[in-house]
This record gives sequence, structure tokens and C-alpha cells, in this order.
Amino acid sequence: MDGEVFDAIVVGAGPAGVTAAKDLAAAGLSVVVLERGQYPGSKNVSGSILYRQPTEEFAPGFEAEAPLERPIVEQRYLLLTDDAMLGGVYRSTRFAGPPVNAYSVLRSEFDRWYAGTAEAAGAEIYPEFTVTDLLWEDGRVVGVTTGDADGELRARVVVIADGANSLLAQRAGLHKEWEPIEQALVAKELIALPAATIEDRFALPVGQGAAYEVFGESTWGLLGYGFIYTNKESISIGTGALLQDLIESGRNVNDMLDRFKRHPAIAPLVRDGETIEYSAHLIPEGGFKRMGRLFIDGALVVGDAAGFVNPLNREGTNLAMLSGRLAARTIIEAKARDDFSIATLSRYRELLDESHIMKDLFKIRNVTGFAHARPHLLRDYPRVMSDAAREYLTVDGVPMKEKQANIARMFARLPKRRLVGDVLGGLRSMI
Ligand SMILES: Cc1cc2nc3c(=O)[nH]c(=O)nc-3n(C[C@H](O)[C@H](O)[C@H](O)COP(=O)(O)OP(=O)(O)OC[C@H]3O[C@@H](n4cnc5c(N)ncnc54)[C@H](O)[C@@H]3O)c2cc1C
Repeated sequence: MDGEVFDAIVVGAGPAGVTAAKDLAAAGLSVVVLERGQYPGSKNVSGSILYRQPTEEFAPGFEAEAPLERPIVEQRYLLLTDDAMLGGVYRSTRFAGPPVNAYSVLRSEFDRWYAGTAEAAGAEIYPEFTVTDLLWEDGRVVGVTTGDADGELRARVVVIADGANSLLAQRAGLHKEWEPIEQALVAKELIALPAATIEDRFALPVGQGAAYEVFGESTWGLLGYGFIYTNKESISIGTGALLQDLIESGRNVNDMLDRFKRHPAIAPLVRDGETIEYSAHLIPEGGFKRMGRLFIDGALVVGDAAGFVNPLNREGTNLAMLSGRLAARTIIEAKARDDFSIATLSRYRELLDESHIMKDLFKIRNVTGFAHARPHLLRDYPRVMSDAAREYLTVDGVPMKEKQANIARMFARLPKRRLVGDVLGGLRSMI
């Protein structure tokens, strides 16, 4: 690599960086990806949900080749109180495909496979290469460094794809370190269980999977949620909350996850499982309102490093891939014009604005602020709904009419103004 000036250097071999590198290489540009982990995905123990339709656009035919765990046929949204669980379930045989809607994947395996598709397109990927800073000349980014003279690499453009808490985006002045209100902290575990046990406990057909999102006591009522995803022979379980709420409440996510696993409704699902991986990770949740700059002379930022996460829809990986693609399209146009200046790279913002990334992030721009201002949402409502369900379901000789009146009184005890504000505010922030 001595003295070579690449068309592009991509920092980070997650879905954002790999998609950018793959598209650039496929268009004939010289591109190198630098990844600090032993291999792409090695730093990511997350079991997560991967949506089929967007993934097909970035890796056509992936279902036949990629390491996938289970097609997700059931989605549950649950509320936990101290002693109870209630909620909604959607299960469809149609989700078993074809076409499948989503798969559970182990990111350490999927990311490795996905990086291979970029290599096949001609991108060079260098693992165990931690970038510590950008190189600058005349106010523009001209490369990256690992901190010693031998570790300097030059390119006409740098794609910053180093994930949440992006050191390089901060170094580039694209945004400051995210504030505690702009990010969530999540603890997650991978728990090994035999496939048949998973299918029994989650009442699943052989080979099919379920995804649970769990609110309320799963986070001590803080703004966030717990999740459980079934893999082939393991369960991904995690929980987390807005960092600001964790700091203010003095709670920590390790205790939160232990408590979630011990909850009487959750414990039977993970019983006798062996924890084989554990980690904690940040998720950028500042969204549209708190988005930083997305490009400067000689550099663009993609994926989590740019804050492209839609926590409502559990969309991160697909937004990372799409932003990588739009960054690549911008760079390909810049190469054709032989101009990598900020004026040319501003095309990236136009492409993002036309895409569902910005449209969706704009649409949900007020949701976090709305929910954060109402700490009672995930505490009071699960409790009242659970009390109402218990009253309704308990057969104890009390006439139905009286039970209905009891239930009405439970809801009437909620402060009315607050209730109206919650409903109207919630609708306003979503519509
Ligand atoms: C617990 C949890 C559960 C999630 N579940 C889902 C889900 O179910 N579905 C979904 O769509 N999204 C989910 N997400 C979000 C999703 O994981 C991210 O949005 C997505 O991984 C972002 O991709 P990325 O390429 O931008 O960053 P990453 O995947 O974080 O990749 C960044 C890469 O850069 C490397 N890197 C970092 N710094 C350097 C450096 N200085 N030098 C070189 N390399 C560096 C890292 O090692 C890493 O490989 C989840 C996130 C978490 C934390």
C-alpha cells in the first residue's frame, strides 16, 4: 500500500462500510476497508433482526448463501409489571415465506459473510487495523492514520463507518460526542439452548423464530426496552435505556439485564441456558433533530456513525446499508467529475433526503422527546393495564358489571389532564 492514493478508504467493516466498499469496488474504484476487529463482525456479538427485502437489494440472493438463523414468524410486543406480562402478538405463516419478512442473524457471522461479498467485488479489507485519526491537508481530509508513521494511508475520500460513538466523526468536526439524551446503552447476551427447547418454549414450528420486544419493568420503567430473539441454537436477550435516564436513575444495564432474565415471565424462556457471549453497546438515538453534519471536504459519514437508527421500527442495519450505498453513489459521481470537494459531496445529503432514511427519521423526530418528558408512560400504564386484566380475568363471584366499574375506576384514577396529554401528544408525535 506504500505511497498509493486510493479512491476511497472506508473505516469500519460493519454493514454501512461494507455496502459502501462493495458498491465502490463494483464501479471500478480502488477501495480499502480498515477494521479494528480480528475480522468483520468480531466486535459484534449481537443477535439481531435482519429485514429480507432491503438486504436483498444490497446482497441479491443472500438467502441461499448468508448465515441466517431463523425466519421470524412471530412478533410480540409485551408489557411487564413486577409480577405480570401482557401484550400483543402477531404470528403469520406467510412470514415463513417465501417471501420471508425478516431473519434472526448472529452479526458476528453475518457481517463476516457480508464483508466477503465486498471482497468478491474487488474491495480490500484489512482487519486488526484501528484508525486513530484523520490526515488533513489544506483543510480537507486526505487519509487516515493508526497513530504511527507506517500506519498512514491516503485516499481521495474517506468514508467514516466506525459505528456508534464515532471517534472519527468527532475528529472530523461532523458532530460532538453524543449527549446522554442522544444515545441508548444496551446490555445483551447470547444464551445457548438446544433448538428443540427453543421451539418448545416459544411454541415455534421447527426452524422458525420469534422476536419479542418488552417494555415496562424490563427497564425498570425507563425509556427503552428489552428484547428476545430466537436463533437456531441460542437466544439473543438484551435490555437497555436512554443513557440520560440511566444516569439520572443511577441504574446500570448489567443489573437491568439480570433482573429482566429473572422476571417470572422471562426466566422460563432462558432456564438452564448457558451464556456464551456478553457485551454492552451504544445505540445513537438523537435522530433527525440532533443530526450532525454528514460530509466535509474529503469525507462522508454513514450508518450508526451518522446516527441513522430508527428505534421505533428496530431499523439500524438496513439504514446503515442504504446510507453506505448512497455515499458510494456520491463518490462514484465525484470520481466521474474528478472533484471530491464539499460541493460535490453535498449530493449525499440530497440522496439521503430523497430516501426513506431521512423521511422516516423526520417523521419520528419528536417521539423520543415526547416519551422522555413522560417518565410515567412505561411505569403507570403497564401497571393499570395489568391490574385491569387481572380484575377482568379473575373469576371470584363478583358480578361482571361491578368488575367493569372497578376497571373504569382504575383508569379514572389516572390524572385526566395527563392522560389526555399523553394520548394527544403521542398521536401528534407519530403522525
Ligand atoms: C443490542 C443491539 C441490538 C440491535 N438490534 C438490531 C436489530 O435487531 N435490527 C437492526 O436493523 N439493527 C439493530 N441494531 C442496530 C445495528 O446493529 C446498527 O444500526 C448497525 O450495526 C450499524 O451498522 P454500522 O456499519 O454503521 O456500524 P457497526 O455495525 O457498529 O460497524 C462499525 C464497525 O467499525 C469498526 N470500527 C470502529 N472503530 C474503528 C476504528 N477506529 N478503526 C477501524 N474500525 C473501527 C467496528 O469494529 C465495527 O466493525 C442493534 C444494535 C444494538 C446495540
